[in-house]
Amino acid sequence: MRKKLVVGNWKMHGNRASNAQLLGGLKDAGPWTADVAVCAPFLYIADTALALAGTAIGYGAQDCSAHEQGAYTGEVSPLMLADVGCRYVIVGHSERRAYHAESDQLVADKAKVALAHGVTPIVCVGETRAEREAGQTEAVVKRQLAAVIHTLGHCCGEMVVAYEPVWAIGTGLTATPAEAQAVHAVLRAQLRAATERADGMRILYGGSVKPDNATELFGQADIDGGLIGGAALKAVDFAAICRAA
Ligand code: PGA
Repeated sequence: MRKKLVVGNWKMHGNRASNAQLLGGLKDAGPWTADVAVCAPFLYIADTALALAGTAIGYGAQDCSAHEQGAYTGEVSPLMLADVGCRYVIVGHSERRAYHAESDQLVADKAKVALAHGVTPIVCVGETRAEREAGQTEAVVKRQLAAVIHTLGHCCGEMVVAYEPVWAIGTGLTATPAEAQAVHAVLRAQLRAATERADGMRILYGGSVKPDNATELFGQADIDGGLIGGAALKAVDFAAICRAA
């Protein structure tokens, strides 16, 4: 049995006051049977750590450098994330792939450095609307995952994968549970071919998960939780999604 995982991706939202309110609401609403974490903007990770001290809620970052340290102005190393207690780091989110031209290989390199320092990478894969309409969904997600599997080698069983169809992110359009499950099954099969640990690995679904669709999505055989954007910004909604997991 895989333990479900629900991760909030705050993206570039919030401020000290609103974060404190959100985290306070989550602390009051928990604990849950699922593992739960929030990925805050870098600047607020230290505050988040303080606010969540003594709770079971984990925290992490939304990106990291593929380097450990050095002359990389503006970047944040996975070593630094580990230093402030991050359990997770999202890598390869479609917004980073699209707006920062992150390649499959860069995403894989980031995952590798994170894992080497004990920060679990949440590796995002997903097709655009045009790719889905062209029948390329499987090919795209397999290509994205293959780069990470190849780079991590025998350690690939330690990552978390998130399937996030780009057309479903922030749009209110959710993949149907059956559509999402079909892709998760493809990813699971690809992981099985790479590692004995595939059946214990968590594959999250992301893309307009809300309290009213979470139960059905999380009920699918290969959906092991969610990566939640918009609905992670309201404590009541995020808490309800965590309860559904
Ligand atoms: P959304 O975002 O839940 O707002 O669609 C999910 C994500 O981008 O991780």
